[in-house]
Formats: sequence, structure tokens, C-alpha cells
Amino acid sequence: MTTETTNPLLDFSGLPRFDLIRPEHVTPAIEQLIAAARDAVRQAEAPAAGPVTWDNFVVPLEEATERLGRAWGIVNHLNHVMDTPELRATYNENQPKITEFWTELGQNEALFDKYKQLRASGDFANLAPARKRIVENALRDFRLGGAELPDKQKERFAEIQEEQARLSTRFSENVLDATNDYKLLVADEADLSGLPDDVKAAARAAAERDGKTGWQFSLHFPSYFPILQFADKRELREQIYRANATKASEMGAVFSELEKWDNTGNIAQLLKLRDEEAKLLDFQSFAHVSLEPKMAETPEHVIEFLEDLARRARPYAEKDLAELRAFAQEELGIADMQAWDVAYASEKLREKRYAFSAQEVKEYFPEPKVVAGLFGLISKLFGVTIAPDDAPVWHPDVRFYRIEKNGHSGSQLVGQFYLDLYARQGKGQGAWMDDARGRRLTTGGIVQTPIAYLTCNFTPPAEVDGKLQPSLFTHDEVTTLFHEFGHGLHHMLTEVDELSVSGISGVEWDAVELPSQFMENFCWEWDVLQGMTAHVKTGEPLPRALYDKMLAAKNFQSGMQTLRQVEFSLIDMHLHYDFDPTSQKTVQDLVDEVRTRFSVLIPPSFNRFQHSFGHIFAGGYAAGYYSYKWAEVLSADAYAAFEEAVEAGGGSLLDETGKRFHREILAVGGSRPALESFKAFRGREPTIDALLRHNGMQA
Ligand SMILES: [Zn+2]
Repeated sequence: MTTETTNPLLDFSGLPRFDLIRPEHVTPAIEQLIAAARDAVRQAEAPAAGPVTWDNFVVPLEEATERLGRAWGIVNHLNHVMDTPELRATYNENQPKITEFWTELGQNEALFDKYKQLRASGDFANLAPARKRIVENALRDFRLGGAELPDKQKERFAEIQEEQARLSTRFSENVLDATNDYKLLVADEADLSGLPDDVKAAARAAAERDGKTGWQFSLHFPSYFPILQFADKRELREQIYRANATKASEMGAVFSELEKWDNTGNIAQLLKLRDEEAKLLDFQSFAHVSLEPKMAETPEHVIEFLEDLARRARPYAEKDLAELRAFAQEELGIADMQAWDVAYASEKLREKRYAFSAQEVKEYFPEPKVVAGLFGLISKLFGVTIAPDDAPVWHPDVRFYRIEKNGHSGSQLVGQFYLDLYARQGKGQGAWMDDARGRRLTTGGIVQTPIAYLTCNFTPPAEVDGKLQPSLFTHDEVTTLFHEFGHGLHHMLTEVDELSVSGISGVEWDAVELPSQFMENFCWEWDVLQGMTAHVKTGEPLPRALYDKMLAAKNFQSGMQTLRQVEFSLIDMHLHYDFDPTSQKTVQDLVDEVRTRFSVLIPPSFNRFQHSFGHIFAGGYAAGYYSYKWAEVLSADAYAAFEEAVEAGGGSLLDETGKRFHREILAVGGSRPALESFKAFRGREPTIDALLRHNGMQA
């Protein structure tokens, strides 16, 4: 029951009260929940009368922090999907308090000590494997957070963290400032030959905003990339390529006074600090620190994996490049193809080879057919049903569903999800899955079922000829929907009773994309597509000829693209593994070395891409960029099990494969190492063969 005096953010009895929650509820609720969580922490850190046990230590701590996490999760979610000035203000006011609380918790030595006592206690041996894993994870995180260091070193460790945060912020500010500062004004429209009209219109508007006449371009992706892709004028392409490739570097000074945005020093400092951090923690290198909580075991193993992938992709990349060179020479009159010609020539070659428009494809993917197709596929694969359900929502477009499993004793609720499909004002870009509530067995012995937010930014339905036409999805959007549903299934089909390792919680970072990328594969399956396409006017399913073209276009230049990702990953890994930041050798030397060994088309010597490589210098991907390819290997190989089942006749074999994927991957979540889950599903270690095959390369 809710009265006017109760705060709906503090009501945990059922589904979030999106109908009642207002910005003014945030501060009082968050303050109350932080205070309660602090109380629980104080009790948990107090010396125990008897031995430390799961029940007297972990449970109360988890109870108190879960509520805070859920309430803040709602605020965070609303801030991303229904941004208003009032909500943003209260979000920004409360966010530092939340960060402070979690940071303190992560460095709380008394709690660390209690976890150690629990680990050493007699109780530990009797804990279920999932609980053991939670304790081990907690100990690992405390250790990596420097909790075990002597005081003097702990101080230095904290300094290093702060300094890294400062340098990372500086790094991305430099990239952003250099990006914003650059302006290329084109006065003569003839110079813009080849550019699409919408790109020209945006450039015209940008010039007008600055009170100039002509067309103005910047280094923001939607502005500069179309020039590389479409501009017939080669000098224009070269100009913007140079500007982009030297951005935030010492070379940037050649086109503006950008020396102050040079990231050379920030990169060198960051690498030194990370190396120092690793040595303090008694690790050989920062790459070793980064891999400690990940699925990949050692940097050597990752490097071997990447080099193997490079070796296999190389012949295809060489062929891609040779074709492109020949095409550029014969059809475009470019005899000496340069870096700034690659996107342009590729676009022309793609158009020539696979003439079909995204618009044509879209007409076969009306939203109701796609969503029904997706739900039907999930039902078939995992033996569950998805049905509409009721819940308070934050916008009339949002739908709510329940997933049920049919068992001996009737149907049983497994999980629920919100589906917020359309782009709108005040909603953040992109698509994502977030957890609204995680599965756990409560102290009262009741299963708390998981709830997910599935958020996309697709085109809303529109009126066509006076009739409301359903939203039409591009094939990319369909793939995105499947991807996010993969994360959603991982979260919702879990059967683990421990919150910290149920669903996607506690899953290694380099394995978390397995279920999501796995689901993407179905969007390329002829049989699946037949069931989820219907032309918006004729109702016809996707025709074979169009499908074949889409499939061929999918693998266009996959050899070159694979090598490019491998190159980035190897630069990242070597910088954090065997590069000595104090030696004479520069970062550029290392970048050049990797390129000489692995690239088919070596970028010009002025290229300073690493100066805007935010993933590893300002994001969480340091010694982790390989994860993209790593998770793709897992998802492709897992999907191959389904292909094999179909080849062997489908039917019960396919059912069995779906059940096994559910049981060994989705259901277990983070309760055991991802490699163990993978092997339990596949009966062996992962191999890269399926990924190569899916990309049109021979294993
Ligand atoms: Zn994802």
C-alpha cells in the first residue's frame, strides 16, 4: 500500500513504481538507503562474537546494499530514458554520494579482514560453489584494489589511482577539444561532389551556426567520415584524413595551435603509472593485473590467440586489398591508393557488387513481425513462453512482458522485462540491457525473480497515407534487438540463487558478450528470417535473392577488418605487457612494429591513432581490447553447436542443444568460470574455426 507520505523509491514490495516516482523523491530515498547501508556495514565490520559465517556476515551486508543498488538503478535508468532538468539535477547531486559509498566499501579493510576470516573458517568448506566463488571474488577485488598493501604503499597506490583518473580525463578532454576545435570550411559546392544531401545539409547548417557561408565539417564521426566515404575530391579526403589521424598529437600542431592538446605525455605517464601499480601489487605487468578477473589466463595466451587470428585472416586481407587496389585503379583512376582512398574506394566497390538499399531491406522487417519472430525463437530454443504483463511504466510506449516456464506443476514465472523500443526526446542514444532486479533466494526462502530493462532507439511508427504504419527496422536494428535480448536472457533465465553471481553478475568481462553475440547469429539464418519477415505492403517474406546479397555484403572485406581489430588489440596488449615505459623505445615505435608485422596496408607515418584510442587510455579497456574478438570466438563457436544440430537433422537434437545452452551457459551465470561453462556446453575448449567460417574465411 502506498500513501502520500511514503516514498515510492523505498517501496520494494513489488515492481518499481514508475507511475509515482518524482525527482523530489530521489534525495530523501537515497540518503535513507545510504544511511541504512552504512549501518549494515558498521555492524558487519564490528568484531564478531563468534566465527564469521555466510549468514552473519555476507547476508546482512548484501540485503542493505541491494536496496540501495535497486533504488539507484531506477534513478539511473530514468535519467537515461526520461531526461528532464529536474531529474538530471537530482541525479548529479546524488551520484557522488553513491560513488563515495561504493568506493569506501571497496577499500574497507575491516570487511576485507572479515572475508579473509570467512575464507579461513570451517564454514567455508561447506559453502555451495556459488557462495565460495562470491567470497573468492570479493577477496580478489580487495587485493586488486590495494587493500593488502602496507600503509606506505597503500598511500602511493591511492595516489596512482587518482593520478590515472586525472590523466584519463585529460586524455579524453584533449581528444574532445581537438575534435571540436577543428573546422574545415568548403566554399565551393563543386568540391563536395559525391556527398549525400543530408550530409551537405548538416555541414551547411554547421557553417550557418558559426555565421559563415559555405559548408563546414568537423572531426566528429558523422561529419568527417562521409567525406572519406563519399567525397570525389581526393584532396578533400586527404585533408580531413590527416586532421583526424593526427588529432591530439604532436603532429596536430601542423593545422592549428593544438600542441596543448597533445596526448603524448598523458600516454607515457599513464603507461608508467599502470606499470608501477602492477609492480606494487606484485604482478609482472599491468596486462597481468587486467587479466586477473578475466577469462583469458595470461597475456601470452591472448597474444598467441591474436597472432593466430592474424595469420589466418591475412590471406583474406591481402585478397581484399588486392581487389580494392585493382578496382581503384581500373574504375576510379587511382593508381597509388592511399589511406584516404580506402573508405571511398570500398564504398564504390560495395555499391557495385551488392546493389541493394537498406530501405529495400527495411520494408521486410515491420516491428510486430520481428518481435513475434524473436519471442517465438526464444520459446522454441529455451522452452519458455513470453506474454504481455502489467506494470507501471515511465512512458506510454513502454511494454512489459513476463517469461514463464512450463513444468509439471503448471507454468512458473521466470523473469520479467520492460521493452522500450523507440527513440524520443530525452532518451539516451544506443541500445542496452540493464538489470532492474537480480535473481536471488531471499532470507525468507522466496525466489526473487529477475527483471530487465531492454532499451533501444528505433524509429517509432509513423503515419503513411493517413494510416499508422508499424515501425520498420533496418537489419542492423534487428541484429541490435537480438543482441540486447541475448544479454536479457542471460540475466532472466538464470537459475542461480545468489545475487552476486546470478545472471550477468560476476561473469568475466571478456565473456559477457557471449549470449548477446550468440543471438545475433539468428538474424542471418534463412529459416529464422522467413518466419520473422513480411513485406509491409505485400506481406511476402524476405526473398532469397535479396538475402543472398545481404549475406555476401556481410563479409565484405572481413579479412581487412579482422586484421585491423587484431592490430589494435596487439598494440594495446604489448603496451601493457612487454613495453618498458622508461626505455628509449617510444609508443610510436611499438605501434610501428605491430603494424609492420600485421597490417596489410600500413597507415602513413604521420598517423597517430593511439592519441585518440580512448578505449585503452580513457575507458576500461586497458589490456582488454582483445575482448571484442575473444567473445566473438566464444559466441560463434557456441552458435556452431546449433548449426551442427541442424545439419545432423535438427528436431530433438536441436531441442537438446537449446536446453544445454540454457543449462550450461544462461542458467549458471557468473556462478562458475566462463571457461568451465563453455566446456560444459561444447564438450571442449573454444576454437576460432566457427568465427572464421561465419566471416567467410576458411579455418
Ligand atoms: Zn552487448
